[in-house]
Amino acid sequence: MSNLPSGLRKGLEQDALFSRLKLEQRQVSVDGTVKYAWRLRDGSVVESVLIPEKSHNTLCISTQVGCRMGCRFCLTARMGYRRDLAPDEIALQALHVIEELGDRRRVRNLVFMGMGEPLDNYTNVVKSIWILTDPLGLDFSQRRITVSTSGIVPMISRLGMELDVGLAVSLHATTDELRSELMPINRRYPLGELIQALRSYPLSRRRRITIEYLLLSGVNDSREDAKRLVSLVRSIPVKINLIPFNPSQPIGFEPTSETGIIAFQKILTSTGLTAIIRKSKGRDISAACGQLHRELAARSESVEQSALSLQPQG
Ligand code: SAH
Ligand code: SF4
Repeated sequence: MSNLPSGLRKGLEQDALFSRLKLEQRQVSVDGTVKYAWRLRDGSVVESVLIPEKSHNTLCISTQVGCRMGCRFCLTARMGYRRDLAPDEIALQALHVIEELGDRRRVRNLVFMGMGEPLDNYTNVVKSIWILTDPLGLDFSQRRITVSTSGIVPMISRLGMELDVGLAVSLHATTDELRSELMPINRRYPLGELIQALRSYPLSRRRRITIEYLLLSGVNDSREDAKRLVSLVRSIPVKINLIPFNPSQPIGFEPTSETGIIAFQKILTSTGLTAIIRKSKGRDISAACGQLHRELAARSESVEQSALSLQPQG
């Protein structure tokens, strides 16, 4: 860019980041799901998953290398926590997939449901959303973006005040005792506080909060669980996504049977709640929920990060 005035070049060098992620691996599932592994500038790797649906695609992106929430059923938790992704590292996952598809409109929904806890990396996640939604950037509508959280209560309230994105909450249990066992974050922010935060989440144009409920055989899938779930969310506009457990490595849980899932769903829907059974996609390439996991062996010497900052020519 030596045609630019040197003052502007200096300013750009100071203020702007020109970065790309290196595509480490691209795997395609028998069901068409695509998993991308990106190598970051410090050598660590995160994954994104493109999920084709009938009329559109959904892209699931990562926000941290690993995760520190320690949920017992989740493979990402097994990695431990390494670091937060920077805003560009989050937004670039979407940009690169769109480049591959050739058209921004081919990604309709963007979900922050990959590796990591988005609200544990709040500032960078919000910055990445500004980049993704800027009319001069990728021009995504905030309404097509959903942030999924394990329940970091103060950050849920802040997100609601600052943005107009969709919210998904991983509930997975209906008593504090079980939820604290499955999801240690519940010890800090128990169910009562979480439900209260959802109740006061501003929902003007968003209409409904998504409640994710992972079904674990013999753990949280009884009739009583279903009934408690109904009474917990009764006063909140929600839709419930029932997620079949995706086993990958021995992790100590079994999936609820299909008939068990349908019976659970019936109890919810019989009270007028919307409850959808989420189809598991990309299991054969370990791209399904809770299966994202990468060995952390750093290979920083092999990072082929393209220009991180512009070196002025001449
Ligand atoms: N950290 C955020 C978003 C990433 S996890 C969160 O927890 O919400 C995305 C979803 O996958 C969450 O609902 C999570 O509970 C779920 N999940 C984790 N492990 C899973 C597994 N083994 N099978 C199915 N879903 C799983
Ligand atoms: Fe982290 Fe979400 Fe996995 Fe829990 S389920 S460990 S919050 S990525």
